[in-house]
Amino acid sequence: MNNDCIFCKIITGVIPAQKIYEDDKVFAFLDINPVNPGHTLVIPKEHFKNIMETPPEILCNLVKVVQKIAPAIVKATDSEGFNVGINTGSSAGQVIFHTHIHVMPRRSDDGRALWKGKEYGEGEIEETAEKIKTAIG
Ligand code: AMP
Ligand code: ZN
Repeated sequence: MNNDCIFCKIITGVIPAQKIYEDDKVFAFLDINPVNPGHTLVIPKEHFKNIMETPPEILCNLVKVVQKIAPAIVKATDSEGFNVGINTGSSAGQVIFHTHIHVMPRRSDDGRALWKGKEYGEGEIEETAEKIKTAIG
């Protein structure tokens, strides 16, 4: 529990939220500012600031819950599919520093376009792959 964390306060009930699922390790509730109605945040009950700080077995628990509840979110909101997202770091849009997975129900006519891919320059894709492989070690 982190006393300065909004999501920790949601888990303990200090801040209200629309909880849709809970087990001993995972909590899921509706995002207050949804991409589409039913947009859900799946979070560990234990506080970690992002996925890199989250133990792998806890990440597995989160993904299992995503798999379990996403079909229900899609069905209940009359959607067709869903996006799963994890923002890591401010530059990637992370605003709340308690690990969370976004589950965003989608319809083909919802007007919520995804970002478009950009093109690599000459030789850039190979060079990028080499740099990443070197960094992985
Ligand atoms: P991120 O940008 O990945 O850190 O996502 C944080 C998400 O938390 C945003 O989509 C917010 O709309 C959502 N959010 C912030 N405060 C609350 C709250 N009190 N209840 C529900 N969702 C919240
Ligand atoms: Zn927290």
